[in-house]
Amino acid sequence: MRDFAIARRRMVEDQVIGRGIKDRRVIDAMLKVPRHKFVEEALEGKAYQDAPLPIGEKQTISQPYMVAVMSEALALDGSETVLEVGTGSGYQAAVLALLADRVFSLERIPSLARRARLVLDDCGFSKVNIRVADGTHGWQEMAPFKAIVVTAGAPKIPQDYLDQLAVGGRLIIPVGDRDIQLLMRITRTGEREYQEEQLLGCRFVPLIGNHGWQSERA
Ligand code: SAH
Repeated sequence: MRDFAIARRRMVEDQVIGRGIKDRRVIDAMLKVPRHKFVEEALEGKAYQDAPLPIGEKQTISQPYMVAVMSEALALDGSETVLEVGTGSGYQAAVLALLADRVFSLERIPSLARRARLVLDDCGFSKVNIRVADGTHGWQEMAPFKAIVVTAGAPKIPQDYLDQLAVGGRLIIPVGDRDIQLLMRITRTGEREYQEEQLLGCRFVPLIGNHGWQSERA
């Protein structure tokens, strides 16, 4: 709908370009993906606001700016195989589908994975592969990945992500407490060398699993 296209353009101008995102491919991808389709109908009108929104099961679709920051930090050129941990609504996966060659996404909650699958297919993003699993183990069969993006907050960096990262690849992951984290970028600079950068403070829902938080509650 026309209103949504206008709201989307404004979102990108104010929240993405206005806050310093420069990667033209990220900007174009966010202009294209219909974010309102990834939230419940009752929240459609809020889809382009500067905030995360609930998507059910106590989970959230990330704030547009955070999606932009993570996408830009991955520095994708279109040739990559990317792993996302935390499909949620499928919105970040759709953005990645426009930025990379292949996208694999893991979600632990079956109902969210099902809904994301329907929306992604409906919007023409059938190339995104979704699997229901504990994503703290990564996705061994599809590794190595040139890019891994974790969209839930981890207590520490799971070793499997470091192992499944291609040399030259980048891992973006929020690490910290349950309710506040630091967004980190880890670049695999050699077979055994990794370089770590701190990007910015953030708030994600917890990464729950074997190598994450042990349960929903603290
Ligand atoms: N990228 C999503 C954001 C989802 S919020 C989007 O664009 O909408 C984070 C998601 O991570 C939630 O759906 C949550 O269920 C999921 N999650 C948490 N721990 C997980 C784990 N160990 N493996 C896979 N998914 C996990």
